[in-house]
Amino acid sequence: MSFEKLGIIKPLLNAIADMGYKHPTIVQRRAIPLVLAKSDVFATAQTGTGKTAAFGLPLLQRLRKPQEREGVRVVILSPTRELSMQIYEELKEYAKNMSINIMILVGGKDLEKQRQKLKSGIDIVIATPGRLIEHTEKGLSLKNVEAFVLDEADRMLDMGFTKDIRKLHPLLPKRHQTLLFSATYSEKVRKLSKLILKKPVFVETGKKNSTVDTINQIAYLVDTERKAELLAYLIGSRNYPQVLVFTRTKKSADELALELKKDGLKCGIIHGDKTKANRLKTLTQFKEGHFKVLVATDIASRGLDIEHLPYVINYELPSVAEDYVHRVGRTGRAGREGEAISLIDIYEKYDIRNIEKLIGEKIPQERVEGFEPDPTIRRKDVDEVKLKSEHKRSSEKRERQYNKNTSHVPTTIP
Ligand code: AMP
Repeated sequence: MSFEKLGIIKPLLNAIADMGYKHPTIVQRRAIPLVLAKSDVFATAQTGTGKTAAFGLPLLQRLRKPQEREGVRVVILSPTRELSMQIYEELKEYAKNMSINIMILVGGKDLEKQRQKLKSGIDIVIATPGRLIEHTEKGLSLKNVEAFVLDEADRMLDMGFTKDIRKLHPLLPKRHQTLLFSATYSEKVRKLSKLILKKPVFVETGKKNSTVDTINQIAYLVDTERKAELLAYLIGSRNYPQVLVFTRTKKSADELALELKKDGLKCGIIHGDKTKANRLKTLTQFKEGHFKVLVATDIASRGLDIEHLPYVINYELPSVAEDYVHRVGRTGRAGREGEAISLIDIYEKYDIRNIEKLIGEKIPQERVEGFEPDPTIRRKDVDEVKLKSEHKRSSEKRERQYNKNTSHVPTTIP
């Protein structure tokens, strides 16, 4: 299968050839014809599967026909400023041989300047929900929008944007196409899809909640207090060129960065307490290779597009199993190989089981020589019975939630 066979036009074919795309990815093969045919689409596609091009290319293609009416023709909503930037940069590359005006509307930039630019005739707007609402309140009309895209819808809902999406939806014309992309298939996403999609065609790429096949997953058992040391050892001894490291909290991200610094490893930190400008700057510096370790928390991790990122390390497992899928989706992007390493202590032994249940595969557990967990800690420090019952309760709760969320699995397009 080639992009040409999917009906993609020459200006776009030339642009993606320049970017080195040879064949469409699965989600592109499935979604492109549907988007061109103006169907509503509900796609469960993880980040790194090429979903931006899956909606971006066919929408750009549709926009080559001049508009009959004035105003914005495509709105792409994304949860974070970083992801919006990536979509913007990607679409601009795809559209470089066409005359289509694309604009990004995210917070932290001058609203008035954005308003002036909008007046110059913008075809595609890529926005975070809050900023788009601000613009509509100041007069931006969405009444001629032909296509509405929600990218990473699950994360948008997790971040509390449900109300904003409900507010924006009635501002769109009755007849418009909606494309919903989500990495996971949660109850919240299902509810939203009922509200905003009309006779959608489901595109399910791979197992739901599965990790990408090209990612090698492994867990190293280690004592809590030796995690930082093991991390520094792995990075140093294996000569990892660049690593994205996840922590569960902002506090442990800061503490870990300090520890690594002591070991002579320069790191960047991305978490919710950092300003947007700072997060963006850190990401750019990481991409440019100013430092080899980027420590991030879950919310901030969404929307980070780092090409060829070979290693993701879970310094701590996420508290929500679905976040594991998002985290490891940072590596192995677009068919490339990647490795996801989790450092797990005795407290996380049960969390990893929940993750394994969710992704439907076993993550091999190993010990690193010299960092083997102290076998006495189990008896000394951990009240095993209490721990087990606590975890059992929370894992049962999570399991019930998961089963509820996935009780109606959408049909897959053959
Ligand atoms: P996405 O899932 O949209 O975030 O895309 C992940 C990465 O894959 C981006 O860096 C894209 O530029 C790249 N990509 C998308 N489609 C293809 C393709 N067909 N071939 C090679 N790389 C691609």
